[in-house]
Amino acid sequence: MEGREWWLWGLAVVVTLVLTFGIVSLTYFQLHPQTEGTYWTDLKEWVRGLALVVLLFDIYTLYQHLQLQRIRRQLAERDELFQLITENAADMIAVVDDAGRRIYNSPAYQHILGYSVEELKTTSSIEQIHPDDRLGVLEAARKARSTGQGQRLEYRMRHKDGSWRILESTASAIRNAKGETEKLVIVNRDISERKRAEEMLAHSAFHDGLTNLPNRALLLERLQRALVLSKRHRDYKFAVLFIDIDEFKVFNDSLGHKVGDDILVQIGQRLTASLREVDTISRPLLGQSSKDDTLARLGGDEYTILLEDIRTPSDAIRVAERLQSRLAVPFTVQGYEIVVNASVGIALSTAACAHAEDLLRDANIAMYRAKRAGKARCEVFDTAMHEGAVRRLELETELRKGMELGEFRTHYQPIISLTTGRITGFEALTRWQRGNRLLSPAEFITVAEETGLIVPMNRWLLCEACEQLRSWQRQFPAEPPLSMSVNITSKEFAHPDLAKGIGETLRQTALDPYNLQLEITETIAMANPEKAASVLSELKSLGVRLSVDDFGTGYSSLSRLQQFPVDALKIDRSFISHMDSDPESHKIVKIIIMLAQSLGLVTVAEGTETEEHVNQLKALDCSFAQGYYFCKPADQHVISALLLKVNSSSSSAKAYQASAGT
Ligand code: C2E
Ligand code: MG
Ligand code: MG
Repeated sequence: MEGREWWLWGLAVVVTLVLTFGIVSLTYFQLHPQTEGTYWTDLKEWVRGLALVVLLFDIYTLYQHLQLQRIRRQLAERDELFQLITENAADMIAVVDDAGRRIYNSPAYQHILGYSVEELKTTSSIEQIHPDDRLGVLEAARKARSTGQGQRLEYRMRHKDGSWRILESTASAIRNAKGETEKLVIVNRDISERKRAEEMLAHSAFHDGLTNLPNRALLLERLQRALVLSKRHRDYKFAVLFIDIDEFKVFNDSLGHKVGDDILVQIGQRLTASLREVDTISRPLLGQSSKDDTLARLGGDEYTILLEDIRTPSDAIRVAERLQSRLAVPFTVQGYEIVVNASVGIALSTAACAHAEDLLRDANIAMYRAKRAGKARCEVFDTAMHEGAVRRLELETELRKGMELGEFRTHYQPIISLTTGRITGFEALTRWQRGNRLLSPAEFITVAEETGLIVPMNRWLLCEACEQLRSWQRQFPAEPPLSMSVNITSKEFAHPDLAKGIGETLRQTALDPYNLQLEITETIAMANPEKAASVLSELKSLGVRLSVDDFGTGYSSLSRLQQFPVDALKIDRSFISHMDSDPESHKIVKIIIMLAQSLGLVTVAEGTETEEHVNQLKALDCSFAQGYYFCKPADQHVISALLLKVNSSSSSAKAYQASAGT
């Protein structure tokens, strides 16, 4: 076609040129001299002008032709490019006519949706769209036709295998010369994977990774919704159940975290199943409402249930009790038979709570009350609990303030050798000077422990006690030198830097480590014997001595005791104080002393209050005693005076009697 056009054009040009040349030569070279005159002159001018116009026209035509060729070449190249892009694009590109019929589908359709180009030609695109999305797609197409540019749209399309793919699409209109929309070009992108990833992310933001139960964030959201609903509808009542597994730490410590995790998963499953079951038993009138209840895991061994639409508060208690009884059925985890108990705290929507967090906090307070009341129990939050919690919070704030203001004092209680009657050492005990009141540890040590304030508090006490001991050692030299006992709480015991901190204090105060005794209660040591053995060895490597405090109140296994690198047993004062009246206590004290001797440990009798106690302890061959009979805990001035009297006098017993009333 192109060649033929060239020929035609060429012929036209040649013919015109020949014609022009003929006319021009005719007129210029005056081949007919006899016909001179104005007529010829005019004709000559006119022909010349015509020739010029023809020549210009030829040039213009040639130019136009070249332009046309260029445009054609460009169009062909663009067509090729479009073909290349659409055929290779990962996105599915379709062209549909104004009736919605498919004119073109890119090969990506086969790749993504499984249909061949032939299959696509014979199927209607609207049928492949998810019924719920059809209206949206039709509306978007209508908009694209009228405005020329469609909006971004997400819809589902059926894969040949029957599954649904999520597509993101945009449509653009192709208009004809009159500006009417003739076709639509639709570009579809498969975003199924991205959507799935987004869904997974959204799920994990609101669910617990281990049990796949809703997490705290989702629970709080639902709680807030329930709160709003209860404010709007008076009859709508709900409850929050806070469930905490009793002594869960023991499973983790003794069986390992893997088993611990499995137990938590099984508890979650048991609670879910039980919730469904107890719902029909405890709230039979509510029928389908159980689907609204949210069981969430807040982390650790804490689960929460949002019990929606209850009739009376007793509904919540009934559900809690039934859940507890379901949980009490033994679990089998990795071959172990495990029995768990749970403490449950309940907060009811009737309480004047504005925020979801407040309700959760109330349920938590009630749960703690249940634990303190003896575990495996259920408590409903009341205002007295709230007041208790507020008082605790105040105490916590004041404790911090007290620390900053240096309101803590160290008192010392002498430890006496029952053979010599002399003071061999002291136990350092904290006191809190609040105004003119001197608070004993019973009033604040639990809060200090729970808030972690005990760590800096005892570091300070250790330093002070070590310095005081150095001073007394210089003032009252003895062989062996005076020693100092310091208590270690469970929070400190679990602190990874415990040994390091004590080592630093010993260096700072230049105290011989052997003169420092660390007291760890039997309960702390036995809570996790393996861990305790390693911490105790680490402490022992500092060169300090170790005692088991309040011995007899825990559940020490003798073989364990043998493995611990301890030096002394402090017999709990509950046995000593009853040993003169209760033969059973006397027997226990006797057994503990015998046991200690067989293990090469010294014994210290706490709470020695009477002369009778002292005599009995001496008869049982107890090494040391500590108690009000000798001296109550007192500040350094009182103790210095006592030391002066006792350790330098020949009759120490009388000296104690004189100072015991302090
Ligand atoms: P603990 O280590 O068993 O300390 C002995 C407790 O028995 C002291 O009570 C002491 O005052 C009391 N006590 C001593 N002799 C007698 C007696 O003859 N009769 C009676 N009824 N009680 C006697 P305190 O000072 O109130 O301390 C109580 C507990 O608080 C201590 O028990 C110890 O576990 C803890 N604690 C005290 N101060 C500190 C401290 O600075 N740090 C740490 N971590 N714990 C401390
Ligand atoms: Mg102690
Ligand atoms: Mg004790």
